[in-house]
Amino acid sequence: MSKNPLNQKVRRVVVCGGGTAGWVTATALVRHLGPLLDITLIESDEISTVGVGESTVPTFRSFHDFMGIDERKFMSESLATIKLGIEFRDWARIGDRYIHPFGVLGKRVSWMSDFHHFWLHARSKGFGGELGEYCLEWVAGEANRFTKSMGPIGYAYHLDAARYVRFLRGLAEPAGVKRIEGKIRNVELDTDSGNIAAVVLEDETRVAGDLFVDCTGFRSLLLGQALGVEFEDWGHWVTTNSAVAVQSRSPNPPGPYTTCFAHEAGWRWRIPLQHREGNGIVFCNEFMSEDEACAKLLADIEGEPLVDPWSLRFKTGMRRKTWYRNCVALGLANGFIEPLESTSIHLMMTAVTRLIEDFPFDGCHDALLARFNDKSRQEFEHIRDFIILHYHVTERDDSGFWKRNRAMEIPDSLAARIALWREDGRAFQMPYELFRVDSWAMILTGQRVMPQGYHRLAAMMPHDQLREQLATMRREIADKVAAMPTHPDFLKHHCPAAAEAEPRFAAAE
Ligand SMILES: Cc1cc2nc3c(=O)[nH]c(=O)nc-3n(C[C@H](O)[C@H](O)[C@H](O)COP(=O)(O)OP(=O)(O)OC[C@H]3O[C@@H](n4cnc5c(N)ncnc54)[C@H](O)[C@@H]3O)c2cc1C
Repeated sequence: MSKNPLNQKVRRVVVCGGGTAGWVTATALVRHLGPLLDITLIESDEISTVGVGESTVPTFRSFHDFMGIDERKFMSESLATIKLGIEFRDWARIGDRYIHPFGVLGKRVSWMSDFHHFWLHARSKGFGGELGEYCLEWVAGEANRFTKSMGPIGYAYHLDAARYVRFLRGLAEPAGVKRIEGKIRNVELDTDSGNIAAVVLEDETRVAGDLFVDCTGFRSLLLGQALGVEFEDWGHWVTTNSAVAVQSRSPNPPGPYTTCFAHEAGWRWRIPLQHREGNGIVFCNEFMSEDEACAKLLADIEGEPLVDPWSLRFKTGMRRKTWYRNCVALGLANGFIEPLESTSIHLMMTAVTRLIEDFPFDGCHDALLARFNDKSRQEFEHIRDFIILHYHVTERDDSGFWKRNRAMEIPDSLAARIALWREDGRAFQMPYELFRVDSWAMILTGQRVMPQGYHRLAAMMPHDQLREQLATMRREIADKVAAMPTHPDFLKHHCPAAAEAEPRFAAAE
C-alpha cells in the first residue's frame, strides 16, 4: 500500500550503485522527499567503487547546508581537512607556482569593473604586488591558517571517500532508505513504453521502480548500456585518460589546499587528510605507460605508501542525455571531466538538487527532461572549457604531451573567452557555470596569460588613491591571517578525528 495520500505516478525510486553518487543521491532524496517516496539503493560488494574523489569545491558546503548536515560530525567522521584552494606547480613553466583560491579578489567595490582591472592598472604603473595578496583565502592558505570566527571565508574540504560514503549511509538508512546488497544482472524494459520496469539481481531478486537513478559508475549500466544513451567523448580536448592512486602516511601536518604538480605527461595530486594523504598521478597513456606512472608516483610522494597503488582508466565526456525516459544518471555514470579542479562531486550534487526541485511526481515528461538535460550540459561544458584552459595556455614545450596541448584546436566557446581576456582582461561567469570571474582571472594570470589592456575605469582612479587602497587591502588581509589559528589547530578543536581513527599529525598546541 502506498505510504502517502497523494496520487503520484512516481513513488518508487531505485538508486543503482553505492559509491559517492549513490549515497549522495539516496541521502538527499530521503532528507527532502522521504515521506513521499520509497527509496531503495542497490550496491554490489563484488564491484568496488572508484575509491578516489577526495577533494571538493565550496558548493559542497551549500549542499550540506541544504541537507542539514552537521559540519563537525561530518568532518570528524570523514577525517576531513579544510581546502582553501588548489596549488598549481610547474603548469605554465617548470618552477612556477600559483594558487587558485576559493575567495574573492580584492574588496567588492561599487565600481562597474572587476578588481583585477585595478590590479592590472597598478601593475602597469609598477606597483600592486601579487594578485593573490588581495585574497584572504590565498594568504591564509600560504600561512596554513584557518578560522571561521573572523568573518566570511571561502572553503571546501578534503575528505576520506570511503568514510564519507559510510557517513552518508549512516544518515540515509535510519531515515528510511532500504539497502540491497547484490549484483545487477539484467535491466528489464517495459515493452510498451521503453521505460525501465525493474532491475534483476544475480540471485533473481527483481526490484521494480517508477524512477531509476543510475549511479553505477563508468559502466553506466542503466542509462548507457540498457537505454543506449551514447557517450559524447571529449578526449580530443582533454587527453589525460589514466590514473594511478595510492594513499600514504602524512609526512607533515595537513595544509589547507590540494596540490597539483604538472609533469611531462599530465599531473599528480596530493590531498592532505587528518590521518593520511591521498595521492595520484593522472596521465595520457600515449605519452606515459602505466608502469612508468606507477614508478613515478611512488618516487615522488613524500610519505610511506599505506596500500598498494591501483590503476584507473577514464574518458572525459558526458552522456548525450543525463535523463532519458525514467532514468537519470548521476556521478560517473553520467559523465566525467578529469579531476584537476575536483568538480565531479559538485556535478552530482547540483544534479541531485535539481532532481529534487524538478521531481517528476506526475511522470517523466519531455519538457521537464529537456530542461534538466540542458542545464546539466551547460554545467559540464563550462567546466570542460575551464579544464582545457589549464592545459592549453601554457608555455611548456618540454614534452610531446605539452606541445600537443598547446597546439590543439579548442572549443569555440573557450577560444572566445581567451581572446576577450587577452585583449583587455574581460572575464565572465555564465549561467550554470561553477567558476567565477576571479577563478578565470587567477588561472589565466597563473598561466602567464597577461592581457594587453584593462577596463579604462581602473585608470580613472588617481594613482595615490589606488596605491593607498591596495596597500590597505593587503595589510588588512595579512593582519587578519596573522590572528588566525593554524589549520591543524583548528582541526584539533573543531572536528577531532572520530575515535577509531588515529590522526597521524601533531597539532600545534
Ligand atoms: C582519478 C580520479 C580522481 C578523482 N578525483 C576527484 C576529486 O578529487 N574530486 C571529485 O569531486 N571527484 C573526483 N573524482 C570523481 C569521483 O571519484 C566520483 O565522482 C565519485 O567517486 C563518484 O563515483 P560514482 O559513485 O559515480 O561511481 P563508483 O564509485 O564507481 O561507484 C559505482 C557503484 O556502482 C555499483 N555497481 C556497479 N555495477 C553494479 C552492478 N552490476 N550491480 C550492483 N552495483 C553495481 C558499485 O558496486 C559501486 O557501488 C575522481 C575520479 C577519478 C577517476
